[in-house]
Amino acid sequence: METHKEELLLLKDQLIANEKEFSACRRNAPTLTDVINHLGSEIQGLKHEIRALNKKIENLHNANPDGCRCRYCGSIKLKRIKGEPHKIFGDMGIVDTLFICLECKKESVITIDTLK
Ligand SMILES: [Zn+2]
Repeated sequence: METHKEELLLLKDQLIANEKEFSACRRNAPTLTDVINHLGSEIQGLKHEIRALNKKIENLHNANPDGCRCRYCGSIKLKRIKGEPHKIFGDMGIVDTLFICLECKKESVITIDTLK
């Protein structure tokens, strides 16, 4: 009988300790919610930044920094589609680059020396 009473007292102490811990957690919850919301908006900002940077990279990649001209209409408004090393001089930095003309929509392959 005495053992049961001791066990009950022990359980009561544990219950009180657990309740204290629970109310401490409950007090922290709003702060943690704020932190989560703050981190959420920070993540949104970073995603937006990543999208902008990816767009910038794509624009740089597709740009025509050498000022090449369309073989058909002479426009320099070209968009780079792809490039591959020149069959013979590829290892010397010569690249056959496929552009599409934004004026006449025709494609031009232009050989570019990327080491210049
Ligand atoms: Zn053109």
